[in-house]
Amino acid sequence: MLDITTSIQFVKGVGPKKAEALDKCGIRTVYDLLLYLPFRYEDRSRRWKIAEIESGHSGTAEVEVVSVNVRKTRRRNFTIVEMVGKDETGKLKAVWFNQEFLKDTLTPGRKVLIYGTFETTGFGLFPEVKSPQYELVDDAQDNTTHAGRIVPVYERIGTMSPKILRRVIHFLVMGMPPGIPDFLPEAIAKRHDLPSREDALARVHFPDDDAPLDELNAFRSPSQKRLIFEEFFLFFLALELRKAHDRRLNKTKVFDVDDAIREKVRTILPFRLTGAQKKTLKTIADELASPVPMRRLVQGDVGSGKTIVGVLASVIVMEGGAQVAFMVPTEILAEQHFANVRKLLEPAGYRVALLSARLKKSEREALISAIEGGEIDLVVGTHALIQDAVTFRELGLAIIDEQHRFGVVQRAVLREKGAGCDVLVMTATPIPRSLAMTLHGDLDVSLLDELPPGRQPIRTFRREPSQEKAVFRAMEETISKGHQVYFVCPLIEESENSDLKAAVDRFESLSRGPFAKRRVGLVHGRIAAEEREQAMAAFASGEVDILVATTVIEVGVDVPNATLIVIEHAERFGLSQLHQLRGRVGRGAAASEALLLTYPPLTPEGERRIEAMVETNDGFVIAERDLEIRGPGDYFGTRQSGAPLFRIADMLRDPELRDEAKREAGEFLASGGSETEEGRRLLSHVIELWGERFGLAAAG
Ligand code: ADP
Ligand code: MG
Repeated sequence: MLDITTSIQFVKGVGPKKAEALDKCGIRTVYDLLLYLPFRYEDRSRRWKIAEIESGHSGTAEVEVVSVNVRKTRRRNFTIVEMVGKDETGKLKAVWFNQEFLKDTLTPGRKVLIYGTFETTGFGLFPEVKSPQYELVDDAQDNTTHAGRIVPVYERIGTMSPKILRRVIHFLVMGMPPGIPDFLPEAIAKRHDLPSREDALARVHFPDDDAPLDELNAFRSPSQKRLIFEEFFLFFLALELRKAHDRRLNKTKVFDVDDAIREKVRTILPFRLTGAQKKTLKTIADELASPVPMRRLVQGDVGSGKTIVGVLASVIVMEGGAQVAFMVPTEILAEQHFANVRKLLEPAGYRVALLSARLKKSEREALISAIEGGEIDLVVGTHALIQDAVTFRELGLAIIDEQHRFGVVQRAVLREKGAGCDVLVMTATPIPRSLAMTLHGDLDVSLLDELPPGRQPIRTFRREPSQEKAVFRAMEETISKGHQVYFVCPLIEESENSDLKAAVDRFESLSRGPFAKRRVGLVHGRIAAEEREQAMAAFASGEVDILVATTVIEVGVDVPNATLIVIEHAERFGLSQLHQLRGRVGRGAAASEALLLTYPPLTPEGERRIEAMVETNDGFVIAERDLEIRGPGDYFGTRQSGAPLFRIADMLRDPELRDEAKREAGEFLASGGSETEEGRRLLSHVIELWGERFGLAAAG
């Protein structure tokens, strides 16, 4: 007898080989497979006579096989199976690719159900269907799994086709193994009129015949709602636990702001803060002064002035006698931040250092021991800073700039290292609110929704290769007005070398050709750090007119005198990356322009990205667009590593269930729900599910 813990390989129709493929997706037990949910449904309950088939529609037809042919195409290893089938009203043709074995299954005379989207092309031709689902009609079995009903469609797993998955899962659901756990407190399930978990799991795979298809495909059937609600509920419990855990951590030090510190801040400040900066800083100062560790995310579009907020928060902490770690995602940005931060802070007597990858071993060791000894007040670096080698005498504040470029894992490491310290996270990638909750649900958010005064919107234009001369003229004009130009070279995914070559070639053709009289610089990831720093410094100080660069300048680079950016092969970049690149200009008072050099033909997505860029400067609009174009998957580092965040819940699709579940989770904890035996079991389940992501194992 199967139970939910039975290894999947012992289930009928699986076996060791398929079990291996399933294992790669984390499916090991019967229960794991039951939790593998369909992503859409098809209604195959209606059967067509062939003569009734309407071109362009999908449905099921029951036919008798007349003939099966296998053709090989000129492309090697590519075969086409063509089947002709008939009923009393006519004939149809079904085609499959690379499924040669079908010729042995669909032998003439057999009855088969064919499901797919039929096309009738031209007068008098058969209806034709490509890669349809099929099922042999076995008279003895009227409970058809694949046709003649509403059927679930699963994403393929290795060699497990949607069809095989359907068969195996059907087998499981028919003899539903006992012991399916149900964690949702009964009162809550009742309040929201949600079915039991066991019931929901059975019906989410094989809905009743009269279940409305639209409701299923909108993920609004009662069983789907139940599972979605539960997933959100558990997630928000995890978030609440995380927050509760952070609140219990006492900081080793609190940082108050007094008049002396205010005075110090005033002498350091090179400009007046914007209203949004002031407000954010005030919030941060309050949290620094509180014994509860700060977990704050500052979200602000490119150019909104996040750096200074981090620097001023650092001053408060350093005045309180503790150290600051200022982390950025790239070496170039570390170098630049170091240069900027140092200019502001060293005159005020703070000791600032850069932990760079290019330090010699002995220098590195000396710096690490200086940090340990407390001789350094603020250290700028990449994620190397949170690796084990660095210990602080007293870390008071950890700042993570451009958070979107850091992985979840690095954040988790930081969380440990900075357990009792304040954490400030800054990001320029505006994340749609709905996603922010999942990504940063454990952080409090401040918005820098105001640009420093005098900024003019960046004007963005699309240009084609035939307009190259006009692009060069625009560059020349910019330079003759005393401003500077970025020329960004295309990103070529396949090889870093060709990426490099494009930049080097452009550098040479520009500096020999139209800009022979101008000063042209070059930076890319492969240039030795020292040279790169020099090139950046030369550009920053205005000694270079045109900086040819790869995307190494993407994040954070700040040269306000640069007012034109040309992005070559703009169609190859992602939307948020384009927005980041564009943000390199428009950082001063002068009007700025971005020229997107595109090389047709563009993919439809490419078109939409360029259109969005030309249309708007607003980072939030860009982010929403990006989400529409790409879907949410890319936001989550974990998705790539194979562990999806949710099985069925979707922050975007299910906002009402999300908000309800959040409210219930809060109430459940507040009203002591977790103190019962049942509640404790629930919480340990939550930790099992979300512990790693939210660092909850330690919370116990
Ligand atoms: P980002 O938010 O993209 O990190 P930065 O912190 O690099 O932006 O700031 C962008 C530019 O704006 C920098 O040159 C910075 O010195 C300048 N800046 C920031 N705040 C102000 C302000 N309140 N007034 C004038 N300039 C400012
Ligand atoms: Mg920045």
